[in-house]
Amino acid sequence: MLERALRLEKQLVDIRRDIHAHPELGFHESRTSQKVSDVLTSLRVEHQRGIAKTGVVATLGDGHGPTVALRADMDALPIQEANDVAYRSQSPNVMHACGHDAHTAALLGAAMLLVKEDLHGTVRLIFQPSEEAQDGEHKSGGLRMVEEGALDAVDAVFALHVASDMPVGMIEIGDGPIMAAVDSFQARVIGRGCHGAYPHKGLDPVWLAAQVINAIHGIVPRRIDPTQPALISACTIHSGIADNVIPEEITLTGTIRSFDAGIRQQLHDELRRACALANGLGGEYELAIVGGYPPTVNDAQQAAFLRSVAQVVLPDTQIVTKPPLHMGAEDFSFMAQKAPGAFAHIGAGKGDRPRPHHNPHFDIDEVVIARGAALLAETALRYLRNG
Ligand SMILES: [Zn+2]
Ligand SMILES: [Zn+2]
Repeated sequence: MLERALRLEKQLVDIRRDIHAHPELGFHESRTSQKVSDVLTSLRVEHQRGIAKTGVVATLGDGHGPTVALRADMDALPIQEANDVAYRSQSPNVMHACGHDAHTAALLGAAMLLVKEDLHGTVRLIFQPSEEAQDGEHKSGGLRMVEEGALDAVDAVFALHVASDMPVGMIEIGDGPIMAAVDSFQARVIGRGCHGAYPHKGLDPVWLAAQVINAIHGIVPRRIDPTQPALISACTIHSGIADNVIPEEITLTGTIRSFDAGIRQQLHDELRRACALANGLGGEYELAIVGGYPPTVNDAQQAAFLRSVAQVVLPDTQIVTKPPLHMGAEDFSFMAQKAPGAFAHIGAGKGDRPRPHHNPHFDIDEVVIARGAALLAETALRYLRNG
C-alpha cells in the first residue's frame, strides 16, 4: 500500500500545496470543499456536499458489511504565514498552520487507493470543516458532523494528525484519554472608573483583576489533586485607553483544560470563586464559561488495531504506544464518543528549524501525506476484511 501511495505522492503534494496556498477559516472552506469534491468526482466517488455547512462526506464500497469512517479536517487558522515558499498562503492573516491541508490531501489519497479495491462494506470519508473554531452556536465542525448524521451507523472511526514536532518515522497511538477536554472563559471584572490621580474616588478594576489573576494561577497547584492533569491559562486581558484614567472594567479570557469530568467541574467552580474575589473587594464580576470539546478517548481495541496496521504499512516506523497526555484538544472527540475510534499523531517534522503548530513558521515534511494516505486506506481495507 505504501508503494502505491508513494506513486501518488506528487499528485497529493500538489493538492496539499494548492490548499495550503488558499487557506480558509472554519466554516468558510468553500474553495477547499470544492477542490475535495472535484477530486472525488474525478474518481467517480459518490459524495455529498454542504454537510456541517462546508463539509463533504463520501461513500465507497458495496454497502454489505461493516462501516468504517476516516476523517480529515480542512480548516486553517488566523495567522500570517512567515514561510517564504512557492506555495505560501495567498490569503493575508490566514494560514494552514496545523497541517489540516495535509490531512485533506492524505484522505483524498486514501480515496484514490480505495477506489481500486473491491470493498465489502462501507468506507465513509469525512472531510469536516472547522476543527479549530466554533460557530455562533458554540459548535465546531466535528460536532456538527455528528449532529448531521455523518457518524450514524459507523462501526469504527479513525483519524490522523500530522505532528511537526515529531520526526517522520514515528507515530503515537495511545489507549484511552489522549487529548484534553477544553472549555473557554470570559470574565468581566467591574469597578468604577475615575481619575488616575484619585483612585479612592472610584474602584480600580485593574487592582481587582490582579487579585483575580493571582487566584486563578493558584487553582491548579493549590486546589486540584496534583495527580490529575489540569490547567487554566488566562490568555487575554483588556482594559483602559489612557494612562491617567482608571477604567470602569477589565475583560479576561482564557482556556481551561482537563481530562476527568469531576476535575473539569471543579476547575469551573474554582474559577468562579477566584472571580468572586472582586465582590469581596467591593466590585462585581460576570463569568461566562463556554463548553468546548470533550477529552479525546481512543478505544483500546481500535487503537491496538490501528497500531497493528501501522506496523505493516509503515514497517520503518517507531510506534509510541504510551504517548504523554496532550493538553491540546481535538474535536475528533465528538466522533469518538459516537463510534469507537482511534486517533494517531504521525511524525512530520522537517527538522530544519522548530516549526510548532499554530506558529507562522509551521510546515511539514510532505512525505507524511503519502504515508498517511497509505495508513488510512489500509486501515479501512483491513477493518472491512476483519470487521
Ligand atoms: Zn490546531
Ligand atoms: Zn489540528
